[in-house]
Amino acid sequence: MAAKAKIRALVAGNWKMNGLKASKKEVVSLGKRLAPKGKTAKRPACDVLVCPPATLIASLKEAAKGTKIAIGGQDCHAKASGAHTGDLSAEMLKDAGATFVIVGHSERRADHGETDAVVRAKAEAAHRAGLVAIVCVGETEKQRDAGETLSVIATQLAGSLPDGLNAKTTVVAYEPVWAIGTGRTPTVEDVAKVHAEIRAILKKRFKAEGEAMRLLYGGSVKPSNAAELMSVPNVNGALVGGASLKAEDFHGIVAAYA
Ligand code: PEP
Repeated sequence: MAAKAKIRALVAGNWKMNGLKASKKEVVSLGKRLAPKGKTAKRPACDVLVCPPATLIASLKEAAKGTKIAIGGQDCHAKASGAHTGDLSAEMLKDAGATFVIVGHSERRADHGETDAVVRAKAEAAHRAGLVAIVCVGETEKQRDAGETLSVIATQLAGSLPDGLNAKTTVVAYEPVWAIGTGRTPTVEDVAKVHAEIRAILKKRFKAEGEAMRLLYGGSVKPSNAAELMSVPNVNGALVGGASLKAEDFHGIVAAYA
């Protein structure tokens, strides 16, 4: 039997509603850190993605030219165009230079009432436009305390993931809501348990594609805990909020894969 191909990790930064034109320097700095001049330079053994506010996609794409940094959006509308004031379609993000888009982040689910069905439609829109969809799931603290983590995740995955997925165009991010921006993280045992469950669900529904799909962990990942979290089985990278804003911190997380 042929050896299983190793899943290439992805470290993705979500800048959320942070960043002005001047933030371009962080991507320039990150690019230099990823490919410094000199004999000891080592390319990261993972893919690197920055998802800035949509206003910065085009300029960060320009800043990332010649580097391995991909640029993504943080959300998209399900439709390609139309009367939806203030919204952006996946096609528009692609046109601006994005190759990925995050959908179903817990802040979108909470702030904008996005249901699993809405998230699924957005993931379908991402695929229609030729973007990789990063589909987020995660339990609240109340659900965790009630012992509902695995059932909540299973329900979110069932409702948020479109049928017929392919591992190249979909990434799943497990982000416990209570760990986002709090400095708290689950134990590695808990992360391993949830990721094993997600992998089993994906394999059951999507067969080989589910086996090959990247599963990111997100929630208070920082340089000091990245190596430990990224070494957990079935963790194929990270979705990073606060620590992705500064090139030095974000690179410290990418370095977990050096
Ligand atoms: C996030 O919002 O996706 C996230 C993981 O945030 P933080 O890293 O700041 O916890």
